[in-house]
Amino acid sequence: MATDTIFTKIVRREIPADIIYEDDLVLAFRDIAPQAPVHILVIPKKPIPKLADASPEDGELLGHLLLIIKQIAAEEKLDNGYRVVVNNGADGGQTVDHLHFHILGGRYLQWPPG
Ligand code: AMP
Repeated sequence: MATDTIFTKIVRREIPADIIYEDDLVLAFRDIAPQAPVHILVIPKKPIPKLADASPEDGELLGHLLLIIKQIAAEEKLDNGYRVVVNNGADGGQTVDHLHFHILGGRYLQWPPG
C-alpha cells in the first residue's frame, strides 16, 4: 500500500526541496545528502512504494521517468557518464518508501557498489 512519505510531502510542497524539474507525472530534486557532485532524485508523483510494486499499467510512467532522467543528465552536462540507481527494499538499501531513481555523476563511480 502507498504510504505518506517525505517525498509525497515534497510533491505537495509541504517541505522544501531543491526542485529542478516538474511535469504532470514526475518531480526531480537534488538529494539532501549528495554522494557525488551531481546527485538528483527523480520520482513519480504517483506514490508507488518501490519498483517491485510497479504494475503493468505503470509501464508508460516508468518509460517516461527514464526519458526525463536522460534529459536531466544532459542538462546537468554529465557528458562523461553517470549512474542511475534504484534501491529496492531493505537489502537494496531503500530508506524512503516512494519509488525514486538516483542520478549520480560528476565523478568516476566505482563498480560494484558495496
Ligand atoms: P534510498 O536510500 O534509495 O531510499 O534513497 C533515499 C534518498 O533520499 C537518500 O539519498 C537521502 O539522502 C534522500 N533524502 C532523504 N530526505 C530527503 C529530502 N528531504 N530532500 C532530498 N533528499 C532526501
